Amino acid sequence: MFDYNEFSKELKELEEKGLLVRIRTLQSPQGAWLTIDGKKVLNLCSNNYLGLAFNEELKKAAIEAIEKWGVGPGAVRTIAGTLEIHELLEKELAEFKKVEATLVLQSGFNANQAVIPAITTAEDAILSDELNHASIIDGVRLSKAKRYVWKHRDAEDLEEKLKQAKAEGSRRLLVITDGVFSMDGDLAPLPEIVEKCEKYDALLMVDDAHGEGVLGSHGRGIVDHFDLHGRVDIEVGTLSKAFGVVGGFVAGKKDLIDYLKQKARPFLFSSSLSPAETGAALAAVRMLKASDELVKKLWDNASYFKTEMQKLGFDTGHSETPITPVMLYDAKLSSQFSKKLFEEGIFAQSIGYPTVPKGKARIRVMISAVHTKEDLDFALGKFKKVGKELGVI
Ligand SMILES: *Cc1c(COP(=O)(O)O)cnc(C)c1O
Repeated sequence: MFDYNEFSKELKELEEKGLLVRIRTLQSPQGAWLTIDGKKVLNLCSNNYLGLAFNEELKKAAIEAIEKWGVGPGAVRTIAGTLEIHELLEKELAEFKKVEATLVLQSGFNANQAVIPAITTAEDAILSDELNHASIIDGVRLSKAKRYVWKHRDAEDLEEKLKQAKAEGSRRLLVITDGVFSMDGDLAPLPEIVEKCEKYDALLMVDDAHGEGVLGSHGRGIVDHFDLHGRVDIEVGTLSKAFGVVGGFVAGKKDLIDYLKQKARPFLFSSSLSPAETGAALAAVRMLKASDELVKKLWDNASYFKTEMQKLGFDTGHSETPITPVMLYDAKLSSQFSKKLFEEGIFAQSIGYPTVPKGKARIRVMISAVHTKEDLDFALGKFKKVGKELGVI
């Protein structure tokens, strides 16, 4: 018989190191405040940047889509599962992103699995930033291409690796970077990366999961933020964060999207988004197109919170986005900090290895447009209290 102690022993070890993830169950919908364990707590860890996860217009759109299209797509997209509403979302999303075409997938995670192995073979090379998201790493693992990892945000090191890949006879070069690095909130130096890619005829792919709905005009993402329209070949995005729903997408040239429809395995072998998700995502795109009010509010909130935390003496890393890491470095301290915050009515999870490197544990605060000034002041007061109790400030 299989010995399940193999699992429980490892779980115990994780717990001892402060690395066991405690999964909290929400008893209320997403929003600025949540109910957890029967307790009302301020939510500082969702990716619900714009508060769209419980937005009335999106809920209405989801219900209407269910009434019109039902609850499931019935088949994979290539056989009988492409509904008009899927294509409408792809068309409007492309207009919003200012690209020729988009392909919507089940998640951002799947979007990476869809693109990377589909466009690279054993003769090619993939060049990846060392801190790229797990879904990129897994996508790269599905490809037979040679791998080169360049130093985080270091365009000069990328150039070295591009030279090396060329010298070693690689045919196609695919450069991949996160747009916003989700644990630190720093940005890829996209203008420099674009230059290097153009110099070496490399394809450039940006996974902008935390930039969609956050960066650029109306939340169009990092490519818009740096005004690089037409110079980034592939944008991968998610509908699960700022868009408030669930799903992922690939944005780029029509030829690329047509090619992926023939080759991308999560598109070919897994059913698509349900009508409710598709309808809600379409409503989110339309809302963002119509107004940038929520995006502006998000940035105002984030800059207020970050500045005040720094004034209190906290180390908030080098974030350039609403993601605010509160650096504690020690996994046990970080987990204790999070527990105490919870007792004080603040829900802010501790993040440790392997989500971040060893010795880089932190509380990652996610600011949202739905937080009020009073909410943020409440959080600042509690951070100050716990920070003093634990000798952090
Ligand atoms: C969150 C995230 C994903 C995954 O998106 P889902 O839609 O939740 O699957 C992919 N890439 C990056 C960089 C992310 O931050």
